[in-house]
Amino acid sequence: MFTLNFDNAFVRDLPGDAEQGPRRRQVEAALYSHVAPSAVAAPRLLAHSAEVAAMLELAETDVASPEFAAVFAGNALLDGMQPYAANYGGHQFGHWAGQLGDGRAISLGEAINRAGQRCELQLKGAGPTPYSRGADGRAVLRSSLREFLCSEAMHHLGVPTTRALSLVATGEPVLRDMFYDGHAAAEPGAIVCRVAPSFIRFGNFELPASRGDTALLRQLVDFTIRRDFPELGGQGEARYAAWFAQVCERTAAMVAQWMRVGFVHGVMNTDNMSILGLTLDYGPYGWLDNFDPDWTPNTTDAQRRRYRFGQQPNVAWWNLGRLAAALAPLFADVAPLQAGLDRYAASYAAADRANIAAKLGLAACCDDDVALMSTLHGLMAAAEIDMSLWFRALADVDRAAPSLEPLREAFYDEVRLRESEQALRDWLARYVARLAEDPQSADQRRRQMHAANPRYVLRNYLAQQAIDRASEGDPAGIHELLEVLRHPYQEQPGREAFARRRPDWARHKAGCSTLSCSS
Ligand code: AMP
Ligand code: MG
Repeated sequence: MFTLNFDNAFVRDLPGDAEQGPRRRQVEAALYSHVAPSAVAAPRLLAHSAEVAAMLELAETDVASPEFAAVFAGNALLDGMQPYAANYGGHQFGHWAGQLGDGRAISLGEAINRAGQRCELQLKGAGPTPYSRGADGRAVLRSSLREFLCSEAMHHLGVPTTRALSLVATGEPVLRDMFYDGHAAAEPGAIVCRVAPSFIRFGNFELPASRGDTALLRQLVDFTIRRDFPELGGQGEARYAAWFAQVCERTAAMVAQWMRVGFVHGVMNTDNMSILGLTLDYGPYGWLDNFDPDWTPNTTDAQRRRYRFGQQPNVAWWNLGRLAAALAPLFADVAPLQAGLDRYAASYAAADRANIAAKLGLAACCDDDVALMSTLHGLMAAAEIDMSLWFRALADVDRAAPSLEPLREAFYDEVRLRESEQALRDWLARYVARLAEDPQSADQRRRQMHAANPRYVLRNYLAQQAIDRASEGDPAGIHELLEVLRHPYQEQPGREAFARRRPDWARHKAGCSTLSCSS
């Protein structure tokens, strides 16, 4: 059996629930409950991330061993593991939802590698916990596969995210009503082991605050700063203020990266917001094919579209406001919290400008460039233009003789293209005029654009194809896709099919364009 070195600070330093086991309950005055994963019938490793295994200093022979599949299915524990489910609350779709907690996530422990990196290992779908409410604590293959692939894809894109070590099939069916229409069906189950320095969420702070338990809130804040933000100096309120400002900055950086690559989280509830500014909880997320700021993949949110693509920076700000409100009892005055929120706005605006410069290939972004991008966004939405294909191909536009030719592949609809063609040509003329004022060489510009505009993203239909294959017993589609997504900014000859725009058949197909929360 392989070994890992554990330092389980969360359960060592913080108060837990006196009761053990998964009996569903309200848990007061405690930040977690001890609960073990429930064993599954037939664990089988479907995929793993070589980079995450390497970070954990696991050899490929360890990964291939039956023990690995057993441990990361929840059938066995390594020495030093102390499994628990965290207790947190959250604002869901704008409303306070009370206690939520890890209903199907079970943390196994905090592994420390030789470089001193902290890697909390968390199984998602490992069985019931005190926080499972009416549900089973399990996860289906389609949702676990999506979480596994997207975590790694985001990492390779340079977006802050939790990671994924493994995807293990349980050999057990899970009953799910995918369309919430009363037609539940058995689906294959699977468990992801996700990895992050910390899985603490905004909701971990909101719950004790909502119960007026300021002592517990303070304990968690002190712990989080000590363990996860050791670089922060100062004392007392000043230290809390510096920490909150950091959280605001990191959140701004994360959301700006989502906007750069066309990622829609889909469920930005405060219980899904990481205190480290990592993309957390991959559920009904999606990627923009045709650029549409109003698009959301989440069918549960189809009416109000609270979590639509273009709204994400505002929602993150709103969520930080909920965190600020939870932290208010630790401050004599709200000014430092307000300053943190202002920091969010300033950081996001700066990151947005950096995105504009990088995506358009400019040395710096001025006010006119913000307008230039905004005009382009309007045209892209009107003409139904593929976001990834457009920005990638924009690097090929000839400054001396601009034309739409290199951009043809990005159009979904000939009629809408024709309607917008003149406006797009006018935009290109504006763009090349702007490039003429830019100090960078054509080569520099191209390199800058290729580093900011990915060739390969996890298009929804690609994930669905891997799911369909895996559901029939063939995991090779997962490996293929993972391999492509490891180098999203590189041209990969022979893999052009993975960069194509969404095919027509996928336009309205479940899983390819819309997703429910049922997972
Ligand atoms: P999510 O929308 O996936 O972030 O989940 C919201 C809450 O529901 C969290 O507390 C989850 O742990 C819980 N939850 C979601 N699915 C399940 C499930 N199958 N079993 C138990 N709890 C679940
Ligand atoms: Mg969640």
